[in-house]
Amino acid sequence: MCPEPPLRPRAGAATATTWHAVALCGARVLPLLAALAAASAPAAPVALDFDLHLDPAARRLSARGTLVVRAAAGASLVLGRQFRLKGILDGRPLAAPQVGQDGQVWTLPACAPCRLSVEWSGDLAPPPDSASQRETLGELPAMADPQGGFLPAGSLWYPSVFAGKEVLLASHRISVRVPPGQRALVAGDTRSEREDAHGYTATYEQDAGGELFDLVAGPYKVRQRDIDAAGGRKLRIATWFHADIDELSDGYLDAVQTYLARYEALIGPYPGDAFRIVSSPLPTGFGMPGYTYLGVRVLRLPFIKSTSLGHEVLHNWWGNGVYPDYARGNWSEGLTTFMADYAYKEDAGEEAARAMRLAWLRDLAAVPAGDAFPLTQFTARSHGASQIIGYHKAALVFFMLRDILGRDVFERGLRRFWQQKQHQVAGWDDLRAAWQQESRRDLQPWFKQWLTRADLPRLRLAGARPLREGARHALEIDLEQQAPAYVLDVPLAVTTAAGSLRTTLRIDAPRARLRLDLPAAAQEVTLDPDFRLARALVRGEAPPILRQVLIDAATQVVTLGDAPTQAAATRLARALLDPAPHAQAGAAASGRPRLVIGSTTVVESWLATQKLPPRPTQVAGGDMAAWALQTGDGGGLAVVAARDAAALDAALRALPHYGAQSWVVMEGGRVKTRGNWEGRPQSLRVPAE
Ligand SMILES: [Zn+2]
Repeated sequence: MCPEPPLRPRAGAATATTWHAVALCGARVLPLLAALAAASAPAAPVALDFDLHLDPAARRLSARGTLVVRAAAGASLVLGRQFRLKGILDGRPLAAPQVGQDGQVWTLPACAPCRLSVEWSGDLAPPPDSASQRETLGELPAMADPQGGFLPAGSLWYPSVFAGKEVLLASHRISVRVPPGQRALVAGDTRSEREDAHGYTATYEQDAGGELFDLVAGPYKVRQRDIDAAGGRKLRIATWFHADIDELSDGYLDAVQTYLARYEALIGPYPGDAFRIVSSPLPTGFGMPGYTYLGVRVLRLPFIKSTSLGHEVLHNWWGNGVYPDYARGNWSEGLTTFMADYAYKEDAGEEAARAMRLAWLRDLAAVPAGDAFPLTQFTARSHGASQIIGYHKAALVFFMLRDILGRDVFERGLRRFWQQKQHQVAGWDDLRAAWQQESRRDLQPWFKQWLTRADLPRLRLAGARPLREGARHALEIDLEQQAPAYVLDVPLAVTTAAGSLRTTLRIDAPRARLRLDLPAAAQEVTLDPDFRLARALVRGEAPPILRQVLIDAATQVVTLGDAPTQAAATRLARALLDPAPHAQAGAAASGRPRLVIGSTTVVESWLATQKLPPRPTQVAGGDMAAWALQTGDGGGLAVVAARDAAALDAALRALPHYGAQSWVVMEGGRVKTRGNWEGRPQSLRVPAE
C-alpha cells in the first residue's frame, strides 16, 4: 500500500537491461499542489542539517540534526515506521506521531520558521538474495549489509517535510560516517572527505532545493579524474565500484566524460561538482542527482556504456535538474529518451534512427486500447504500457516538434528552459512556453492534441488519382482519420516517371482530398514512409511482436508437455506477463490473445490441431524459440517452444527483454538469432493518367 503521504517517482534508466526505482506506491502518485510549484523557487522552503552514522554490518542507521522549515502552514514531518525519533520543537518535545500504513506523521504548528532538533535511529532490512528486475520496480525498503547499503528516498529513511501530499523541496548539509573500507554518498556537492582508523566520513551539501534523496554505501574502490567542464570549471568524475569490476572503471570514465561534454554543449552547465557511477549488488538502474546507481551485473554488460549510461547522465538535467510536475505529466523520461537513447541512433545513421521510430510505433500498436492514457497522466514506469507511452510516445512528440521547429529553434528552446527552470518543478506548459518564446509561434493547439489525447491518429491512405491538365501533372490524394480529427502534416513519398520526391500535406479533418502538383506522372504514393508521425500503424504496417500478447491483461496462458515442462512453462509465463497470467493447461478460448508455452513436439502438434500456421522457417535451431503471429480471429498469439523444462528455465532471465521482437531463438538461455517480420508503410499504385 501507499505510504501516507505518497512520494515522487525518480528519474532512472530506460533500456531493456536496467530498471527504474519508482519511489511510487503501485502506480499512484497524488497531485502536486499548485502552490508548491510556485514555492519551489531557488530559496528552498526546508533546510536539513544531519549527521548520519551507518553501520552496514549491524544494519543500523543512527542520526541527529536539525530541520528549519521556512513555511510551515499545514506542513507535516514524516519518517518511515521502522525508525524511532525524538524531536524538540521550540524547546518542547514533539507529541506522539500518527502512525499510518508506512510512515509516522507529526503535524507541525504554523510557525515560520520552525526549527526542529531531531535524533533518530532504526534497523535496516537485509538486501534480498536475488531481487528480480520486477521487484526492483516496486518499493524497496531501506537495506544494508557490508556488500552494499541502499536507503531509497521512498523508504522515508530520514525525517522530511511534506505539504499535503508532496514533499517540500529542501536544501541540505549531510555528513555521513561509515566503518573503515566503506564509502557512502548522498546527493549534493562534496564539502569534505576524511578516512582514518575509525572509518570514512563525507559531507555533502546542496544549496538549491532538492527532492527526497537516497543514501548509498558499499565497499567501494574509487577511481576518479578531474576534467574541464563548461565555463572553465573543474568537474570530478569517478567510479565507485565493487573490487571485482574495478577493471571496468577506465571505460566508464571515458564514456561519462564524453556524455558530460555533449550535454553541457547542448543544454548548459552540468549542475554539480561531480558525477559518479556507483555499483550496486542489486540489479538496479537508477539515476540520482550527481550519480547513477547501476547493478554490478548491469555494469558488466558491454553495451551499457553506449546506451543506459548516457540516459542516466542526461537525467542530471531532465528529472534531477529540472523536476517534472508529476501531477500534470512527467515529460522528463520522454525528453531523456529522445536526447539520449534515440540521439545515439541518429549518431549511428538514419537507418538506425528510423528503425527505432518504427519499433516505438510497433510498441504503441501493441498497447491494448483500454490501457492507453494521455501523456499528461504519465508519472513513472510501472508496467509495459506506461513505459511505451511515457517514454516512447513522449520521445516521438519531441521528435515531431523538432521536425516542425527545426533543430536550431528546438535546441535554443531547451537551453532557455534549462536556464529558467533549473532546480524547480516544471511542467509541459513550461517547456511549451520556452519553445513559443524561441519560435514566436502559438504551440498550444499542437501540444494540446499530443498531450491530452489517449488515442493516436489512425491515418489511412484511401485513394490516389492522377490529374492531367494540359502539360501539367498532379495527383489527388484521399486521406482519412478518425473524428475528432488531428491536425497533421503528413509526410508522403511519391514515385514519378522522373524520380521520387518527398513532401508533406496537411490534414485537419476526418477526410481530406488533397492536391499535389508534380513534375511528371505519378506511379506510387506512400504514406509516412520514414515513420515520422506518432500514429496507429495499420495491420500490414505493424507486424506482430511478442509484447503485444505479453502486455495484454486478457492474455490466456496455455502450457503444453509433461508435468516438469508445464511447471517450467508456468514459471516462464509469470516472468513474461505483465500483469500476472491466467494459467490454463491444454486449451484456450479463441478470440483472446494467447501465450502458448511447451515442449517443441507438443506445441507443433497443438498448432496443427488448432489450424494455426506452423513454426516459421526463419525461427530455426536453438533449444528454445519464441515467435508472435496474428491469428485469423484477431487475437494475437505468442508461442514459446523448447526442447525441455531446462531450456525454458534457462530462458527465464533473458526472454522478457525481447518483447519488441517478432521472434527469438535461444540456446542455453543466450540469444542466437532474433528479428522482426517485415512491415510495409501504406502505399498505393497510381493508375495511369
Ligand atoms: Zn529515465
